[in-house]
Amino acid sequence: MAQVAPVVSPTGVSAYPFDINQVSLTSSRFMDNQNRTLSYLKFVDTNRLLYVFRSNHKLSTSGATANGGWDAPDFPFRSHMQGHFLTAWAQCYAQLGDAECKSRATSFVSELLKCQNNNAAAGFSTGYLSGFPESEFVKLENGTLSSGNVPYYAIHKTLAGLLDVYRWIGDQNAKTVLLAFAGWVDTRTSKLSYAQMQTIMQTEFGGMNEVMADIYHQTGEKKWLTVAQRFDHAAIFDPLASNQDQFDGLHANTQVPKWIGAAREYLATGTKKYSDIARNAWSFTVNAHSYAIGGNSQSEHFHAPNAIAGWLNADTAEGCNTYNMLKLTRELFAIDPSSTTYFDFYERALINHMLGQQNPSTSHGHITYFTSLNPGGTRGLGPAWGGGTWSTDYDSHWCCQGTGLETNTKMQDSIYFYDSSSLYVNLFTPSVLNWKARSVTITQSTTFPASDTTTLTVNGAGDWAMKIRIPSWTSGATIAVNGATQSITTTPGTYASLSRTWTAGDKVVITLPMKLRVIAANDNNSIAALAFGPTVLNGNYGTTTLSANPKLDLSSVKRVGTTGLSFTGTADGKTVNIGPFYDAQGFNYAVYWAVSGSLPS
Ligand SMILES: [Zn+2]
Repeated sequence: MAQVAPVVSPTGVSAYPFDINQVSLTSSRFMDNQNRTLSYLKFVDTNRLLYVFRSNHKLSTSGATANGGWDAPDFPFRSHMQGHFLTAWAQCYAQLGDAECKSRATSFVSELLKCQNNNAAAGFSTGYLSGFPESEFVKLENGTLSSGNVPYYAIHKTLAGLLDVYRWIGDQNAKTVLLAFAGWVDTRTSKLSYAQMQTIMQTEFGGMNEVMADIYHQTGEKKWLTVAQRFDHAAIFDPLASNQDQFDGLHANTQVPKWIGAAREYLATGTKKYSDIARNAWSFTVNAHSYAIGGNSQSEHFHAPNAIAGWLNADTAEGCNTYNMLKLTRELFAIDPSSTTYFDFYERALINHMLGQQNPSTSHGHITYFTSLNPGGTRGLGPAWGGGTWSTDYDSHWCCQGTGLETNTKMQDSIYFYDSSSLYVNLFTPSVLNWKARSVTITQSTTFPASDTTTLTVNGAGDWAMKIRIPSWTSGATIAVNGATQSITTTPGTYASLSRTWTAGDKVVITLPMKLRVIAANDNNSIAALAFGPTVLNGNYGTTTLSANPKLDLSSVKRVGTTGLSFTGTADGKTVNIGPFYDAQGFNYAVYWAVSGSLPS
């Protein structure tokens, strides 16, 4: 079994991601996260994950224990989680060649096939596959669905997981189950009028347009694009197409997958309206609705544009939203790689939100649902109905736990992109790129963002340009090849272009000088986060509780030593230790401060 290439090539793309199996991580904070998630992926009892599917499809659960949390047998959208496992297993096989992840994915799919094949006995229509009854979709269509259920949201995850097992592993069962299930979606939605579809889309439906557009690209069958477009949600798309921010009050993570879908529909059709929707949504979210760490939402919702300082609460920055924003960012960069805007955000959100979302003190990669930004906040805050702490092996299964499995098994997927004449170096993450089309291997070594330097060693030959992201936060960036500083433009916010005839062993050293920065809340210059280069910093308050943003005298902030990310400052008249927010787990912290004065020059 091997990867299956899509039949249809996307239109309107200027830069391309590498195949998932051409880039791998080497030792780093990112790889540590991946290893913890990998250990959970290999630990989890698949019979427990199959429980709600087997039970719903009237097959024996044969002594398996049911899960708790959002996969419990009475939870409305149980079985949403398993698609994330399928994707994560498939990614680990594709990236690492991990045989156990492959066998877990393919044997899980073979059990799902048995469930799907038992639909007649279970009283379900052909192709249906879920942990809850098909009648939930009838209720959705006739307006009697209980407010706790989001059935299309759940099945989107299953469809996406099956697609990944098919395309990354080449499993034919996955293709069979996927297309039967997609056919069920087609049959169901083809009977509904445009107005009925718009009504059912008032209930969260994940990325149904995204996965259907992906199935179109994968198979080349146009009918899946038609199904994707049935999930174009006019109430969300139309204001965005005319560049209006109407996000105030919307459930945030309900919207982001629709925008990813719009980007995929642009790649399928070339219709400008779709790329306008995706780009405008991204710009509004990043520029007017995101905290310094790159996350958005409070209590899962958007507020008025630029309302930041008034919403520094314990339930800020849901993890899923950023997982989805990173997916959207990749799509938009592929369409327009001309400035660093997209990967400046990607770096910001990956380092400052996603990397520290996982608990490094346990071996199973447990995550936090929200990333609290209240004064004295702490990581490990799940929703109250999910236990209010870090995720657990079997009793949480939150949305963010599912997207966390995916994030932590694709930390490598956006480091490099390419086009016909160049290689884009977007992220400064220790990694090896096997650029098969050019028979070139590139090894990137760095401790970034703890240091400001990264080294890329090129093995192979040829004429091409290395396009290196010069982040907007730096100044005075330099690029040296084999010890000689190059006289090329390194303007912050652009890609520096290093064109040469490469020879084996060429070493490129990139230095991106970092300094302290103040990131003010959009709506209040006196409430701000601190950063050093790309890294958001926080005060370490141990077990102390805080009732307000600490008053920080900016002129007091000093680096401890000349390397690394340890600082001190004076806040509320006391010295406080300040360090990288991605390492802030297990203690109370302050990310936003009431600032006065100015940083030392
Ligand atoms: Zn979530």
